[in-house]
Amino acid sequence: MDAGTDTSAALEAATTFADLGLDARLLAALDALNYKVPTPIQKQAIPLMLAGRDLMAQAQTGTGKTAAFALPLLQKLIPDANTSASPARHPVRALVLAPTRELAIQVHDSVMAYKRHLPLRSTVVFGGMDMKGQEADLRNGVEILVATPGRLLDHAGSRPALLSQVRFLVLDEADRMLDMGFLPDLKRIVDLLPVQRQTVLFSATFDDAIVGLARSFLHNPLKVEVARRNTAAETVEQVVHKVREDDKLDALVRVVEAREITQALVFTRTKLAADKLGRRLLKRGIQAATIHGDKAQLERLAALDGFKQGKVRLLVATDIAARGIDIAELPCVVNFELPYSPEDYVHRIGRTGRAGASGLAVSLVAPDEERLLGAIERFINRPLTPTPLPQIAPPPGPVAVQATASATVVGTARPPRRQREPVCALLLPPRRAAEPPAS
Ligand code: AMP
Repeated sequence: MDAGTDTSAALEAATTFADLGLDARLLAALDALNYKVPTPIQKQAIPLMLAGRDLMAQAQTGTGKTAAFALPLLQKLIPDANTSASPARHPVRALVLAPTRELAIQVHDSVMAYKRHLPLRSTVVFGGMDMKGQEADLRNGVEILVATPGRLLDHAGSRPALLSQVRFLVLDEADRMLDMGFLPDLKRIVDLLPVQRQTVLFSATFDDAIVGLARSFLHNPLKVEVARRNTAAETVEQVVHKVREDDKLDALVRVVEAREITQALVFTRTKLAADKLGRRLLKRGIQAATIHGDKAQLERLAALDGFKQGKVRLLVATDIAARGIDIAELPCVVNFELPYSPEDYVHRIGRTGRAGASGLAVSLVAPDEERLLGAIERFINRPLTPTPLPQIAPPPGPVAVQATASATVVGTARPPRRQREPVCALLLPPRRAAEPPAS
């Protein structure tokens, strides 16, 4: 395989989606979505996919990777597009595998938006939901099928011909699928596909397991990369506060208030910890919701919806549940607990600072997590120097100042001291006069 070969300078020169040779109906859909220029991964991957190459693409969440594979895939399906009512005229031609339901739903939503002017059918299947509705969609026929591996195998078991006409296979967030133990399922699925097909693999990080997967599933793939190996998006400000385990809740509340964070995704390592933190935040009067693998699908979608609509300020999540969550302009990610795997740190902070926007990642590090912090620093190859917790500004106007233990004097708040504006506050209207109190 010639992984390591990069795209040509000519492709780099393309500046618009039209330059990439996309169909006018796809361009119209992108226009409606206000996608003005292709992102770097789109510039690289789209022409190569249109040329029929297999790809292993290293792209973090937030780089526009979904459109990078979905647009060329749809373009290649245009000759198959038809309005016939016959299911036989709509066999599955393109299969997109994703590790989680949330990501599968999100990818499918994007596919629907991109194909709105094309008579191509699509659906999404994932576990945790009744199979009947999904079966009906599959029976009617779809050209594009987005699926999580386990549920796809359930369907393929009862419909042996389901995947026999697949020409395009996309493995989205392949690293996560391996982390989640999907390798045997992936092998079984690939065994059901025609050998003649185009396969593309997207992964935030590349390690030996991913390279091994590419070797067995892909044919002579080209490698495209938009971020340096194991680096987090440069647009994310990474902040570390050292905090005792018992003080973490107070520290979280303080960070959120002091930095005027409108919304944040807060990570814990375990479902138990996520539930506990969600409850404690609610008790502290902070609108919080929890999302993890043990929650029923409807609960997870409701939590995500509440977050997307701004009703929920802090969404507490485990790593697996957070996969695929795409919230436009998510300003902050908080690591309430550091992940055991440094790669998860990169994934987590990739939830903010998306598509070039600035973002903030705050890590609360207890003494027994310093080893994990060290591993993360080595992995991203840069130091993460701890800083003191931010100060909470008192309300503006006259303030009561504690003068002595027995008496108070009333004064007026001094004008704010000039300080570096926190990233999250930049998303809000300018702050009213306020002064950080002495600690
Ligand atoms: P993804 O990395 O595919 O999860 O995409 C991250 C976000 O960027 C999604 O909300 C996309 O809708 C958005 N996006 C993808 N491509 C573009 C583009 N070329 N211009 C503007 N937004 C985009």
